[in-house]
Amino acid sequence: MKEIKTVTVYCASSAKIASKYFEATERIADILVNNDIAVRYGGGSVGLMGKLADTIVEKNGVITGIMPEFMHEVEWQHKRINHLIVTKDMHERKKLLMEDSDALISLPGGCGTLEELLEAITLKRLGVYTKPIIILNLDGFYDPLIEMLKRCIEEKFMRSVHGDMWTVIAHPEEMIEAILNAPHWNKSAINFAAV
Ligand code: AMP
Repeated sequence: MKEIKTVTVYCASSAKIASKYFEATERIADILVNNDIAVRYGGGSVGLMGKLADTIVEKNGVITGIMPEFMHEVEWQHKRINHLIVTKDMHERKKLLMEDSDALISLPGGCGTLEELLEAITLKRLGVYTKPIIILNLDGFYDPLIEMLKRCIEEKFMRSVHGDMWTVIAHPEEMIEAILNAPHWNKSAINFAAV
């Protein structure tokens, strides 16, 4: 069985969202800690990022935040996480978020989360990123994006095999299985990146 040591979590900074999103984030954090999986995330202290970090810290899990200097200067970082990496800019942050982890999971979020998720999918299509990408489609939050991606395939902006790049789950409890069962992907994806 493949071992999952570290997972990167993309999620919202907003604190004004419905409680169901916080509950799901807490369940994700619980599952990660209970399975001895370390976490990399954006380093924030509010919204779902804050909930993720608070829960992992409370349960003595391992979490690394990765935040650009300009956010650190205005003290957006979570103060109690195990490690904080301060990057030069957003580009370096996104690069480091994808490095040294065995999978990405995207929880609900705003434009920051959507951008991170779509960049990961874009790099996977090119064979630059090859790890599982899991989308937590809680209560259909991601339905419009999933429809858009399907439409890209139907209208031949992407190949049908590109639909293997992401796995959609409805509940946090499906995360580990989804990571372990994600379709294999490697650098040779560059050979079929073009349609
Ligand atoms: P969003 O999904 O739009 O909330 O974006 C999440 C991303 O927003 C994070 O990865 C950060 O780049 C950025 N971000 C926005 N507000 C904050 C904040 N208060 N603390 C930390 N990161 C934030």
